[in-house]
Amino acid sequence: MAEAKLRVERARAAFRAGRARSPGFRLQQLRALERMVEEKQREIAAALKADLNKNEYNAFSYEILGTLGEIALMVDQLHTWAAPKPVAKNILTLTDDVYIHYEPLGVVLVIGSWNYPFALVMQPLIGAIAAGNAVVIKPSEISANTAKLMAELIPQYIDKDLYPVITGGVTETTELLKERFDHIFYTGNSQVGKIVMEAAARHLTPVTLELGGKSPCYIDKDCNLEVACRRIAWGKYMNCGQTCIAPDYILCEQSIQNKVVENIKKTLKEFHGEDIKQSPDYERIVNKHHFKRLLSLLEGQKIAYGGETDEATCFIAPTILTDVSPDSRIMQEEIFGPLLPIVTIKSAAEAIQFINQREKPLAFYLFSNDKKLIKRMISETSSGGVTANDVLMHFTLPDLPFGGVGYSGMGAYHGRHSFETFSHRRSCLIKSLKMENMNKIRYPPNSKKKVAWAKFFLLTRFNKGRVGLVALALLGVLLAVVIKHLTHPKPLTSSEALFQFSRTR
Ligand code: NAD
Repeated sequence: MAEAKLRVERARAAFRAGRARSPGFRLQQLRALERMVEEKQREIAAALKADLNKNEYNAFSYEILGTLGEIALMVDQLHTWAAPKPVAKNILTLTDDVYIHYEPLGVVLVIGSWNYPFALVMQPLIGAIAAGNAVVIKPSEISANTAKLMAELIPQYIDKDLYPVITGGVTETTELLKERFDHIFYTGNSQVGKIVMEAAARHLTPVTLELGGKSPCYIDKDCNLEVACRRIAWGKYMNCGQTCIAPDYILCEQSIQNKVVENIKKTLKEFHGEDIKQSPDYERIVNKHHFKRLLSLLEGQKIAYGGETDEATCFIAPTILTDVSPDSRIMQEEIFGPLLPIVTIKSAAEAIQFINQREKPLAFYLFSNDKKLIKRMISETSSGGVTANDVLMHFTLPDLPFGGVGYSGMGAYHGRHSFETFSHRRSCLIKSLKMENMNKIRYPPNSKKKVAWAKFFLLTRFNKGRVGLVALALLGVLLAVVIKHLTHPKPLTSSEALFQFSRTR
């Protein structure tokens, strides 16, 4: 384990030497990662097949494409995002440089999860490199083939000291968490999220926690059920239900419950044919532990469709459960598998209440033709993200921050949000040593007059635009006049000052 410590120290030394800082170097590393993904697509797909039975097209669509898109966006935008951002000035800083400078945090730890084992390590890694950090990469041991491949490939393409890959399980992660990092980015379940946050607290290290939860899916009886159920079936059973933002359960009125079952059944046949076990597009449960956990959630439930299982291959068919009690075990924990409970409610208001009585979920989905109802449900509930009349799709837009709220996580990433998550926004004010007279208003001895003027100059608000700028400039001249007279034995009244001011024009 001294090995992990050594590699963190080496990453810190490389960071302190300034190697990761220059935008040119960051771009070069991002392009090298892009080359890695393009050249090793087959190996990556094979590892994903071995871990989760992902076929190569699904590997490309759901792990590789998003990674390449994120790199392309960072490469394209890095100079713009990393550039100092000027901010609004006040009257006392009118002639100064005032801006936000984005600086790297230092050494970042990225802990990945097994369900999209490649993308969920690569996406935060890309953001952390773009922001100029050193990154210690810890893939999930549960997706062992992908973890091993990443440990082999990444050092072949990007700087070995700045971006070490550390493999291993709970023991190794526990040891790693004793080290001091400047940020920890963790993707996984809420229980381990608490362990990570506790370890981080010892060093006052900030964390991003990308967690899970039970994401509800409300279906209004006034909507196109065929379309709604096709979209839901796609998002729920993708990756065998092992998607953090998959709809966890359905809320709908009793009158449409059977139609929902029928439409999802029909869609599954469209997607996978009569024998889903033979479908090249249907994945498997990641291991026996999760297989057994899911089986235990089925106990006592009414299976309206599916329910077939095969332990030897960790196969669980897409399954729909009807009339599920809100108190049953399957409604107490995140399912993270291909089991879809339907809980019936009497109205949208009851659905809102149902959602609000539980922990804030990572995603919320609702299907309705009624735009007013959609807006109402969004405003009266809370979740990490929302997609209305579809599922998962808010994840695909890099301009939308992706992350949870409350029990489903803290912080967010993707695109510019990743860059910001891994940067410190440093406030910078650069003054000149000239115009010392201007500062008299803040130097002792203080007086009623000075306070009154300070209030006037600092609290006066202008609308933006040319008129506002002209007014601000005029105020600057007024300030100069006032300052001059503040040292005068007989202080000016404000009307005298304004008179003087008009004479200077
Ligand atoms: P996991 O078991 O792979 O654990 C994630 C990481 O935590 C691994 O690298 C593992 O080594 C480490 N870990 C596990 N136990 C630990 C311990 N006791 N101490 C220290 N480190 C430990 O993944 P998981 O937690 O089973 O992942 C599934 C969960 O992740 C689900 O809740 C899912 O919703 C959530 N998830 C969230 C997102 C998101 O973006 N918000 C994405 C994927 C998964």
